[in-house]
Amino acid sequence: MRAEPIAPSLRKGRGRPDLWALAHDPDPERALTGELKPPLDDREAVMEAFRCLECGGPYAPAPCTVACPADIDVPGFIGAVARGQVERAAAIILEANPLGGTCARVCPTEVLCEGACVLEAAGQRPVDIGRLQRYAVDQAFLRGLDPVLPERPPNGRRVAVIGAGPAGLACAAELARAGYAVTVYDERPEVGGLVRYAIAPYRQVRDPLPAEMERLVTLGVTFRLGFRIDSPERLAAVADTADAVFLGVGLGEDADVRYEGDTLEGVWKSLAFIEALKTGRRPPVGERVAVVGGGNTAVDVAREAVRLGAREVTVLYRRTAAEMPAFRHEVAEAEAEGVHFAWLTQPVRLLGTRRVTGVLVQYMRLGEPDASGRRRPEPVPGTEFVLPVDTVVLAVGQRPRAEFLQWIPGLRLEHGRIVRDPETGQTTHPRYFVGGDAANGGATVVEAVREGKIAARGIDRVLSGAGRGVS
Ligand SMILES: Cc1cc2nc3c(=O)[nH]c(=O)nc-3n(C[C@H](O)[C@H](O)[C@H](O)COP(=O)(O)OP(=O)(O)OC[C@H]3O[C@@H](n4cnc5c(N)ncnc54)[C@H](O)[C@@H]3O)c2cc1C
Repeated sequence: MRAEPIAPSLRKGRGRPDLWALAHDPDPERALTGELKPPLDDREAVMEAFRCLECGGPYAPAPCTVACPADIDVPGFIGAVARGQVERAAAIILEANPLGGTCARVCPTEVLCEGACVLEAAGQRPVDIGRLQRYAVDQAFLRGLDPVLPERPPNGRRVAVIGAGPAGLACAAELARAGYAVTVYDERPEVGGLVRYAIAPYRQVRDPLPAEMERLVTLGVTFRLGFRIDSPERLAAVADTADAVFLGVGLGEDADVRYEGDTLEGVWKSLAFIEALKTGRRPPVGERVAVVGGGNTAVDVAREAVRLGAREVTVLYRRTAAEMPAFRHEVAEAEAEGVHFAWLTQPVRLLGTRRVTGVLVQYMRLGEPDASGRRRPEPVPGTEFVLPVDTVVLAVGQRPRAEFLQWIPGLRLEHGRIVRDPETGQTTHPRYFVGGDAANGGATVVEAVREGKIAARGIDRVLSGAGRGVS
């Protein structure tokens, strides 16, 4: 992966909104949902498409296509946009990625396709691939164009997909196109998994998930939403209806990291906090918010707190910017919106009687490398100070769905991730396949799409007798 470029929205002449103004919009709804990457209109899309050099060819695919985990033929769809062939562009995208409209909004394009764009290497602004992809898919859906691809005839085999997140939806689409009867089960009332319930609202609230789901229904996929597989018996009953089961169950709740005082009012776990604001129940954050963590979720939560009206938002991270797992361009964007990063700090305990009023914070220093290869943070004695707060959000990662997974006999986990054959997605239980966060430990939507597709092809290979298991 290339070195991360400067945050594109911080570049001049980008045609994107001013970050500070967007995050501090006096209209609370617009502040929260105002899009970081707003849609292109027809004229902008064609002009942007003409900037593409359409590099790559039969012997060497374009760098943007190589960088796309979903294998989208990027120059191919951009060329179609330039020629005004929106339906063709959408078909190219959706054939490779049934969540092409969602990924156009939520992908970290800065480190994927756009980061690989040859214009970027030449010191110019890369082609706005994400927004062009969004334009093509949105327009196709909007104009009622039908980019659904022809099906292969039904083959009489059935697959149960557990989880309607990106991995499950991608797997279901690929299998349905290959002639399988697919039923997708999800405990939630809506499809999308974390896209619907966790990804920041300034990237995507809901749309275009309903249209993407509709397209799967047209392909023949059956959905059973609001259906929680909550017992070994229910799992067995679902598995009995199918020749293979795909586990697209993602990860579970926030990791159980405890701090003294974490049951005080005003202390949130990240997923509950984000789900509340994405489903219209805005958490009252007050003036001062502390976010604990160093991943992309912590940065998202901090930016959301700014949009909810907090005046001082501080991210407490126990290492330095160099070790922070969050994308650098997103840290830069958060800083531009007014988020303060307190490097080398960690909470000792949360203070207050009924409601949280402060965090006792301690400074850290970096010692020897730990098992992860990163230098281990160590507390510096005598450096404690009180950070006054109205709200604390703990964003320290998610844990695996341990209880559910133990109902599958012989299923092996390593460090909480389901062990699988990387070429087929097959687990150590031969009828179960996996992809997405449950297997990779938490990555991106487009990575989950890629793994859902791999597992669908693996299921096809194994059910047609050409497969192999995991040793
Ligand atoms: C706060 C946050 C922000 C993120 N932001 C981005 C971003 O901007 N861009 C990006 O690319 N990625 C982002 N990600 C990562 C991305 O959302 C995930 O990598 C992706 O959603 C994983 O897809 P999945 O299908 O594996 O799992 P999930 O999206 O978690 O979907 C799993 C689904 O399975 C269902 N399920 C689980 N168990 C059961 C059961 N027993 N019965 C029925 N249903 C069940 C769940 O309810 C859920 O709907 C973010 C993640 C988080 C936490």
